[in-house]
Amino acid sequence: MVEIVKTVGLKKYYKIENYVVKALDGVDFSVKEGEFVAIVGKSGSGKSTLLHMLGGLDVPTEGEVIINGKQLQNLKKEQLTIFRRRKVGFVFQSYNLIPDLNVYENIILPIELDGGHVDKEYIDMIIQLLHLEEKQEALPKTLSGGQQQRVAIARALSTKPAIVLADEPTGNLDSATSHDVLGLLILTAKKFQQTLIVITHDEDIAQLADRIVRIEDGRIVLGGE
Ligand code: ADP
Ligand code: MG
Repeated sequence: MVEIVKTVGLKKYYKIENYVVKALDGVDFSVKEGEFVAIVGKSGSGKSTLLHMLGGLDVPTEGEVIINGKQLQNLKKEQLTIFRRRKVGFVFQSYNLIPDLNVYENIILPIELDGGHVDKEYIDMIIQLLHLEEKQEALPKTLSGGQQQRVAIARALSTKPAIVLADEPTGNLDSATSHDVLGLLILTAKKFQQTLIVITHDEDIAQLADRIVRIEDGRIVLGGE
């Protein structure tokens, strides 16, 4: 199978006054197309930093991020923005929905920002898969946490991304809702042959992954390849 995500010697150092925080300290990591990888590790170990680098949200201090054979560092700023919009779907712990837009408008927002055409049939399918049919006209504040996160997932999927990156997507949800939401994320990733990388604290969720990658102090200590 094809490697869709790869990092080589990836480092991210933050300089704070007189000392340096080594958030990532030499990460060699690869993920195959269609794979579901869970990233686990203690708070502060570098998980979010890694996910941000993979999605081109932040630039490394050293090393390479290669997505679909393209080295992100070689992309110009606009190319990187386009890459992010079209190839990557992000899901965060906080849902980050736009309060003034209804559910449907939130979901199609990334397509509109990219000036793309809304594939109504596909969007309807996502809405159905995520059980949001009845909520399309609702405003985010009227939804439960689990519903809001399902909208955020639908929004992440709306551009048909090849890669879905989720950073503790169920961190604000109770355990039963977490499993429902994660189950749907896994289902949609399989259905659309997406590569899914999920940071999670939840052992049960990690066990569902094809592979578990453990990070400690900015290094992968288990499951890197
Ligand atoms: P995790 O997601 O595993 O909890 P992070 O990737 O958020 O860990 O952070 C890894 C380390 O890098 C931590 O020590 C954190 O404090 C530090 N860090 C993250 N972002 C920044 C930043 N913007 N400036 C300074 N230090 C940061
Ligand atoms: Mg984090």
